Amino acid sequence: NPCCVVIGASHAGVNLAFSLRKEGWEGQIILIDSDSTIPYHRPPLSKAYLTSDDGIEKNQLKSWESYKQENIDLKLGISVTSIDRENKKITLSDSSEQSYDQLVIATGASPIIPRIEGIEKAKNLFPLRSAKDVSDIKTAFKESEQKRVLIIGGGYIGLETAASLKKMGGMVSVLEREDRVLARVATAPISTFFQSYHKEKGVEIFCEKNVVSIRTDENQNVVTCADGSTFEADIIIVGVGVSVNAELAEKAGLELENGIKVNAFTQTNDENIYAIGDCSFHHNPHYDRSHRLESVQNAVDQAKVAAKNICGIPTNYESIPWFWSDQFEVKLQMIGLFEGLTESVVRKEADNPLKFSVWHFKGDELLAVDAINNPKAYVIGTKFIKERTLVDKEKLSDPLTELKPKNL
Ligand code: FAD
Repeated sequence: NPCCVVIGASHAGVNLAFSLRKEGWEGQIILIDSDSTIPYHRPPLSKAYLTSDDGIEKNQLKSWESYKQENIDLKLGISVTSIDRENKKITLSDSSEQSYDQLVIATGASPIIPRIEGIEKAKNLFPLRSAKDVSDIKTAFKESEQKRVLIIGGGYIGLETAASLKKMGGMVSVLEREDRVLARVATAPISTFFQSYHKEKGVEIFCEKNVVSIRTDENQNVVTCADGSTFEADIIIVGVGVSVNAELAEKAGLELENGIKVNAFTQTNDENIYAIGDCSFHHNPHYDRSHRLESVQNAVDQAKVAAKNICGIPTNYESIPWFWSDQFEVKLQMIGLFEGLTESVVRKEADNPLKFSVWHFKGDELLAVDAINNPKAYVIGTKFIKERTLVDKEKLSDPLTELKPKNL
């Protein structure tokens, strides 16, 4: 029987394993992760999971029984250290070897700890990527008297963590290097909205703050920025982005480009090796653009496509990217890619100031929609983008025109 080995048991790897069975794969499936915790959902880590007292089982991707039922051999707490493409086998951290017929790399990404003077001596400084990070943060937070939290990086993880720790009673400040939060991942109207929304909720946000050093005495950290300003903190969360876990692929001589390069079938330049999820650099045919994405949608959809291809059903990856974020009482849903936009139309809703949407166009083509507390805008935007519908921008921006496909 053929054997499929999957490196990385998170959103991409776990979905791949279960999709393989769904597509009729009868061979062995070995799913390996260096983390020893049952595979879990990452998005709640900075959201509901951080604020609740739930155990990780409540947040698991699949139950222990389902791995057994599907005959998926889940090996946790062990890393893959190398790939031997010629002999089609991998080596594990206990020096054992495992041969494969098909190999899937789903190694994701790891948080970047920036090179800041004094960072290694900082007290209670954490990234936020794993369940262990969350339990460390919770412990430090509970033990802290003043609960002064400083978040370095105003991206989604930084802002979600700020909202969660504020809800839990922290005094929270965010330091962002750029002139607006979410600068890399959202357009200006969304940044402006979240900045004032957080302020309203009592989170302090400081932009154009480039952290250059951290000094720590006793339990207190003093963070200094390039402009000379200083901030005191009991707890520091670092959310400045991730770097791809591509060392295995690199050592094995697979083609890289800001990630592991794959074709439309999610296949690397070795036809028996696939790369999916946060670690894959791929092409999006709808936007004719190549990129690496960090989202559950991408991990899950690529897993399904790879499973089909491995089972001999040729399938292209052609999803429209989508993403969400929860902060306090706001749910942001984004569909599409806004790069190359020439115009953004803001649509407010008459009934609720905390509900609106921003529609991004390149000329007449709808590229992307950001929906704040507005699932309808998200659903209609998705349909329009997929079908490349021409939208009447004037009607769209008029809150008196009900948001319905036939009205636009
Ligand atoms: P990962 O989740 O990074 O998993 C890779 C796995 O591979 C890890 O478990 C790692 O231990 C393992 N691994 C790596 N190297 C080896 C090796 N050599 N041997 C064995 N195992 C190895 N996305 C959204 O769409 N919406 C959200 O709201 C959202 N919120 C998020 C909030 C947080 C706090 C975080 C951290 C992420 C969030 N994301 C969100 C992003 C989303 O979680 C990722 O895109 C997703 O986890 C990617 O899945 P993956 O399987 O590709 O990689």
